[in-house]
Amino acid sequence: MTKTIFEKIINRELPSNIIYEDDLCIAIEDIAPKAPIHILVIPKKNIQKLSDTKKSDQALLGHLMMVVKKVAEQLNVQDAFNVVINNGEKAGQTVFHLHIHLLAGKNFADLFPG
Ligand code: AMP
Repeated sequence: MTKTIFEKIINRELPSNIIYEDDLCIAIEDIAPKAPIHILVIPKKNIQKLSDTKKSDQALLGHLMMVVKKVAEQLNVQDAFNVVINNGEKAGQTVFHLHIHLLAGKNFADLFPG
């Protein structure tokens, strides 16, 4: 199977600005940022999209969220950030390796008016 861009980044076959890494995931700067801070938290396990996850992935998914929190603190944006997961082509997913977008420094409140 062809490797995704993110798998190549995890394997250091492609360059990227990695700002966090542990046994289960990496966090990188998005190459085409949609906000002043745009980070992708990516599991090392090859899961195509959120809807493909299984019950056995529950701890991994929780871990990814805790890494989002940790990275937000690392970048000092813990008080104001947005989290997005695009699931499926029709929802705008372009890289088919699960990833969480962490966005900060831009107000997305208009997208989800209260
Ligand atoms: P999505 O549309 O949810 O699949 O998001 C994919 C994201 O990956 C987009 O925001 C792209 O800008 C980003 N991206 C694509 N290639 C790279 C790369 N080589 N390094 C960092 N981010 C990338």
